[in-house]
Amino acid sequence: MKVVHCPCGKDVEGETDDELVTNVEAHVVEDHPDMVGKYSREQILEMAHEH
Ligand SMILES: [Zn+2]
Ligand SMILES: [Zn+2]
Repeated sequence: MKVVHCPCGKDVEGETDDELVTNVEAHVVEDHPDMVGKYSREQILEMAHEH
């Protein structure tokens, strides 16, 4: 399981890179609309680690 710990305190998870990126993008749209489009796939994956 890959996880990104968002600075807001939410843990966004995904089974694969694609799922994680999709889930992080969805979380940004939902909770951080001002940040939409500011994180590339590479940046999201750099923030991720394995759980
Ligand atoms: Zn967040
Ligand atoms: Zn962690």
